[in-house]
Amino acid sequence: MIAPDCDVAIIGAGPAGAALAIHLRKAGRSVVLVEKESFPRHHIGESLTGECVGLLDELGMSDHLRTAAYPVKRGVTVTGANSRARFWVPVEACEGSSRRPATTWQVRRDEFDAALLDKAVAMGAELVRGTCRDVTRDDGRVTGIVVRGEAGDRHAIASHYVADCSGQKTFLAGKGLTGPKSRTGYENQTAVFAQVRGLVRDPGERDGSTHIFYGERHHWAWSIPLSKDVTSLGIVLPKGALRRDGRDLQQIFRDALGKVNGELIERSRDVELCGEVETISNYSYSIENFTGPGFLCVGDSHRFFDPIFSFGVLIALQEARLAAQVIDRSLADPAHPDQFDGFVEASMRAQRVVEYVIRTFWDYPFAFLRLAHFTHQSDIAEIFSGRLYTPEVMEIEAVRLMREMLHRTGQIAA
Ligand code: FAD
Repeated sequence: MIAPDCDVAIIGAGPAGAALAIHLRKAGRSVVLVEKESFPRHHIGESLTGECVGLLDELGMSDHLRTAAYPVKRGVTVTGANSRARFWVPVEACEGSSRRPATTWQVRRDEFDAALLDKAVAMGAELVRGTCRDVTRDDGRVTGIVVRGEAGDRHAIASHYVADCSGQKTFLAGKGLTGPKSRTGYENQTAVFAQVRGLVRDPGERDGSTHIFYGERHHWAWSIPLSKDVTSLGIVLPKGALRRDGRDLQQIFRDALGKVNGELIERSRDVELCGEVETISNYSYSIENFTGPGFLCVGDSHRFFDPIFSFGVLIALQEARLAAQVIDRSLADPAHPDQFDGFVEASMRAQRVVEYVIRTFWDYPFAFLRLAHFTHQSDIAEIFSGRLYTPEVMEIEAVRLMREMLHRTGQIAA
């Protein structure tokens, strides 16, 4: 076997890849981070949950968050098709939880991702600009990656472990190393989104918070403030609704905006686009067997559900933290490599809770409204904040109730 160039080769430098690199560097491990885009690059996914605050502090990002003047998020408002059906979930909630932050941030992902990557490089991760094209294998074990550099050169990087952090590109699944990519039932959706000026936001302290506008099942819109006057505005439609019929994306965006929710129509009368309209489809999937000899997948590279409650960056950061621990442990004990069970277990447990929340919201909206607004406000706030990675999360009363209901109605297995 060739002597490895590094302990861990990471494919992709989004939140999962950069955070993993920082944790591994803190543990004294050598890291090569391969990224195909040149940063800063635009990325969707701006709203952070409460738990991200502590995770980012651990990554040394608190100064960046304080100085970047990102809007302060105090919670999420969900407005129903009829605006009287409205509920608010604050970032802070749980009485007696002193470590819970009262606020979090809405980040401009170009700046945020670039700052996280800069931190990884400052910590000693080696950044290789190029596209990962393949993996190398030896007797069934992944032993490194093959990269095409910016100048078109092709070279191999040998590593003890490979971490796939390629996001929606699901690189290792594409190479057949994981289980197949299966759809979650949420795939028939398309998001069309842009940054806008002139949207009427929530008044007072809630000006920086997220607002979700419900249209009908699986048809909704988000408003996420990005600065004093710029807002990320997106509409999620059933895929068929995006038939172009000679329209350009701007027209599709405006047409969709005019239909999704009465209150949003009122608030968006004077909206002006201040960037390109973009679209993304088929973004929900799940991949089994996302770890194996010499590799593991982190963040979107093995699963993405519905983005409605903004769990994506949280999951990327949490999984990066856990992945670093299991890789470090495995490197320290070469006689027992690939000690990934704890990572898989915690990841699947959290993803299951996300699934319960989202399925209940869409399929039993009145039951969800009752939990969030009347009977289990603090449980729902706890979940929205992203406290999903403790073994006890399944014991939270609201989680138990959602699981039982979905099981009773045949939506999930026991
Ligand atoms: P990414 O951030 O996608 O990073 C992957 C990186 O890998 C990219 O930089 C890419 O260039 C690089 N890469 C890919 N392939 C290769 C290769 N072969 N070689 C080298 N580099 C490669 N999340 C939230 O937390 N809040 C939100 O409000 C939110 N809204 C969303 C709205 C929509 C419509 C969607 C679809 C998602 C949303 N998300 C949101 C999810 C969030 O964007 C993702 O979960 C998050 O970015 C995942 O981080 P990641 O590091 O796993 O992947």
